[in-house]
Amino acid sequence: MGMVPAPGIVESGRIILDELDLSTLDDKVLRAVRGKELSMMVPNPRSELSPLLTVGKQISNVAYQHLGLTRKEADAKALAMLKAVQIPDVERRFNAYPHELSGGMAQRVIIAIALMCSPRFIISDDATSGLDVTVQAQVLDLMNTLVRDRGASMLFVTRDIGVTAHFCNRLAVMYGGEIVEIADTNSFFARPAHPYSVMLLSAFSHNPTLRAKWTKNPEEVSAQVAVEGCPFRHRCVRAREKCEVEHPGLTKFRERHEVRCHYPVGGRA
Ligand code: SF4
Repeated sequence: MGMVPAPGIVESGRIILDELDLSTLDDKVLRAVRGKELSMMVPNPRSELSPLLTVGKQISNVAYQHLGLTRKEADAKALAMLKAVQIPDVERRFNAYPHELSGGMAQRVIIAIALMCSPRFIISDDATSGLDVTVQAQVLDLMNTLVRDRGASMLFVTRDIGVTAHFCNRLAVMYGGEIVEIADTNSFFARPAHPYSVMLLSAFSHNPTLRAKWTKNPEEVSAQVAVEGCPFRHRCVRAREKCEVEHPGLTKFRERHEVRCHYPVGGRA
């Protein structure tokens, strides 16, 4: 999305969308791609919505800018989108300002903006974490339906493993800025392979012996950041000598399931 603020820079890697490397695009081209092909939902809708414009105008601006519609057509499309995200009393809400909406309603406005141009790829950056559980479930179902109906793909960034199980087809677990496990959701929950994944899942267990099995005693965990070898080794109950010196690569564990570990759980000993 080109959102790394200065002095941050993207040092390496590529971001490919339909054979287009987004990391090489200049601002003008990237602006045309954003919103139309690619959109993003954020966790704090009120900080993203302008307090000076009505929500209807903010949604309609996206269609006006990217779809070449007239103002009237863009407004009509914005109204239809507010209905699609199940905002009640849309005509009144169209003319409301963000501070007049509840958190759940403001989040729906963000979803409406993100979906306005039927983008092919949507990033949800922890977009539902601030909502209470009931509203979160409603918003997730809504996102699911809208994404499915529009044939889009979504990258869902979350710290909520329950939401992941409910919502995602494929998931990646990250530790220390790296993907340590990537798998289809069913495969992951049936047979997690990275010790960090197993530790996370065991934290939900009511069985204290299981939790203790995968979690190191805090007194044994070094505060030192592992710069060599495996970044997880100071917290890993399976760490051995090789983990001290060799950074593990992402390797195939089973079909469509890769893990970054020298000694994956349920793998070779
Ligand atoms: S490579 Fe070693 S330290 Fe890292 S997760 Fe695997 S077993 Fe643990």
